[in-house]
Parts: sequence; C-alpha cells; structure tokens
Amino acid sequence: MTRTTACPDGSDLLALATEGVAAPAVRSHVDACRSCLRKLRRLKAEVVHLRSSMGRHLGPAPATVVPRSAAGGD
Ligand SMILES: [Zn+2]
Repeated sequence: MTRTTACPDGSDLLALATEGVAAPAVRSHVDACRSCLRKLRRLKAEVVHLRSSMGRHLGPAPATVVPRSAAGGD
C-alpha cells in the first residue's frame, strides 16, 4: 500500500474536467488513481451534458465561469 499523494480535492478535479487545467501533481495522480479517473470521467460527462443543454439557450458558454463554491475562496 504505497500512496504517493492524497487524492486531490473535488474542486481540483472539477477544474481539470471543465478547463483542462490542473497542477502537475494532480494530473499525475489522476493518471495513477483509478478512483479519481472515474470521478474525472463522470465530471467531464456532466460538463459536456450541461454545456450542450445550456448551449441551446445561451450559445457558447464563457470559459471563465466557475462556481464560487468550487473555487474554495482564498
Ligand atoms: Zn485519487
């Protein structure tokens, strides 16, 4: 049982799912962690679904919109 790093926060996975950006440590962890990979895939699927359903009404979604609760503040 060797764990290199703890599983990243949900907001880190969300940022990776929505923006495709994450700290290198988060990326490498997700590559190695099946649990996080599954979470990421689910988040990505939800994001795609949300954007496609929103897009009908709003057009292209602004990439800068991130829920404040997910950002975690300063
Ligand atoms: Zn993990």
